[in-house]
Amino acid sequence: MPAFWIVLIFAAVEGLLSGSFLNVCIQRLPRGRSVVRPRSACMACGHTVRWFDNVPVLSFMVLRGRCRDCSGKISLLYPAVEIAMGAWFVFAALPFAKTFAMDASGEQLVLALLHGLAVATFGFLLVGLLCMDWQRWVLPDEFTLGGICLGLFFAVAESFWVPSVPYKTFFTPEEAFFGKRFAAALAGYLVLKCIGTLYRILRGRTGMGGGDAKLLAMVGAFLGLEQLAVAFFVALLTCTFFALGLLLTRRADGRTPVPFGSFLSVGGLVAAATGERILSWYAGMFR
Ligand SMILES: [Zn+2]
Repeated sequence: MPAFWIVLIFAAVEGLLSGSFLNVCIQRLPRGRSVVRPRSACMACGHTVRWFDNVPVLSFMVLRGRCRDCSGKISLLYPAVEIAMGAWFVFAALPFAKTFAMDASGEQLVLALLHGLAVATFGFLLVGLLCMDWQRWVLPDEFTLGGICLGLFFAVAESFWVPSVPYKTFFTPEEAFFGKRFAAALAGYLVLKCIGTLYRILRGRTGMGGGDAKLLAMVGAFLGLEQLAVAFFVALLTCTFFALGLLLTRRADGRTPVPFGSFLSVGGLVAAATGERILSWYAGMFR
């Protein structure tokens, strides 16, 4: 089998397993419980899930979405998260799979691998945050602060492999590469922190949690300033449509809170998947 497909199949399996673990995080982190112990149990009857009932997606289909012990319904969110992660990991692995298959240099391989790992990690964190903010209005520090650290770690790792520029600058290429990501993280945090503070002063109540600011900082750490702007714009757009939909169908009034972190996560995913294309399309409009 060509190397290209082996990489993608490996990524898909890895994604499904990560999705399974992500489900545990989504259920437990907002409740302050350990994600390692105890083993997974049925939400309805508390029976420990048998290992053969814990296979991503497959078990859900075999059991037809019901617990083997009490026939209690298992949320469709579980297989959905697993499938989403499987697909995202395949997407993340595509550049590496292509590089791997065309017998590239060691440096190109390392850079493609690092990039793939960063995109996969970023998607894992964002899908988790999307679900947790939507379900429980929580953006746990384990994911946001942990995500900022991981994003900056990848920035450092990638900076060692960026091609050097022929002319002399004040910063070395490594410093410039990392510095931009660091500045983007800081900018993401400060923008939402300022908006949140302004809102509190003007309306006298908290409109945006600190988690949102940390989440946008994480987006900056992973993607840099340009794509951070794409993510923020997509978040505002989708959030506005969502709020308008609620208002028009009279399911909300002006005071109804919306889980903005979920929309920031959607923005981050869109930016990671298509950010560069959106930016070049936008730049093309002014040519
Ligand atoms: Zn049960």
